[in-house]
Amino acid sequence: MYHASTEEQTLSAYDPYITDQQRNEIQETAAGLTDLRVAHVNTTASGGGVAEMLHGVVPLANDLNVDTDWLVMEASEDFFDVTKAMHNGLQGERSELTEEMCELYRSVTVRNAESLEESYDVLILHDPQTLGMVPTVAERFPETALVWRCHIDLTDATPAYLEFAQSHMEPIDSAVFTLPEYGESISGVEKVSIYPAIDPLTEKNCPLEELTGEAAEAANVESYPFDATRPLMTQISRFDPWKDPQGVIETYQTVTESVPEAQLALVGAMPEGIRVFRELEDVAEDDDDVHLLTNLPDAGINVLQREADVVLQKSFREGFALTVSEHCGNGRRSSGRTSVASLCRSTMERTAIWSIRATSLRPPTG
Ligand code: UDP
Repeated sequence: MYHASTEEQTLSAYDPYITDQQRNEIQETAAGLTDLRVAHVNTTASGGGVAEMLHGVVPLANDLNVDTDWLVMEASEDFFDVTKAMHNGLQGERSELTEEMCELYRSVTVRNAESLEESYDVLILHDPQTLGMVPTVAERFPETALVWRCHIDLTDATPAYLEFAQSHMEPIDSAVFTLPEYGESISGVEKVSIYPAIDPLTEKNCPLEELTGEAAEAANVESYPFDATRPLMTQISRFDPWKDPQGVIETYQTVTESVPEAQLALVGAMPEGIRVFRELEDVAEDDDDVHLLTNLPDAGINVLQREADVVLQKSFREGFALTVSEHCGNGRRSSGRTSVASLCRSTMERTAIWSIRATSLRPPTG
């Protein structure tokens, strides 16, 4: 495992976004934790919602004197093929979990657990990719409190994958889910829910006027291949079938029947989603108003979230959906055009509601 690096951050930088009472609560909570050494473990230092969140949370915890590390597992591509299948199986895809897959998963996770050099008081393991570390860590560091933070919606998990996840729960002290119902099928562990949230200070979320230099250039809407004066639809998400980019294109095509000047920007990162990207390329080639934008800097995401007339998040399943929060937090158009709308499918609606609440940086009231 290696240590991910993060930018420094202070709680006082968030003063414009929080009340005195909230600041006091954060400080009081942190004051009770300052004698602990904490580490988060995940599989990537960039890309996707978990890394996005850790870049905010880890420096903030350190500013509050809670000594917090971020460790990233090391693994080869075939491990990620297996964990992708696990992720999909836990989200509801009906596929087989073979003994060979379990064996590969075990060998990589055990190797990473054995490479853990120091003892922590609390280890927060993110998502199913890290779960296999549990038996080895529990044996090597019996005093360490283990937390599993699951960012997936397990409500329709394929039984074999659910059983596999469940088989790691015994040594875990606490499991954290985005919504209580996402974790209902897991038993034998204390469960907590924490809503997703975004960081208002990052280039992805801050007001455009605060951007300078290259970020300000990336936030210039004129520099993009679409026509900024015409209606724009967008989806900002990994190129992944669960995010339903083909469905986004179909939605756009339906819209063009009544709004022929509409355009679509599908925004995602590469090379992770190259296979899905290639399929989308075929569609984009036939339509000059479909734009595939890859590896945009954060300021580019920011301006698209604000400028688009419609922001879609058409996922079949979301455990997290930071993009919805980013849109709701950022998407206030300065012009007089129609206000933006998030089009969320049935399962997404719950997530969207929590995300909107989280964006306000206040605890949900209902
Ligand atoms: N994202 C990005 N560039 C892209 C696509 C997505 O920076 O081209 C970010 C997006 O802004 C969000 C995160 O990746 O912060 C995705 O988190 P989300 O919870 O929406 O989905 P996940 O990828 O974790 O399933």
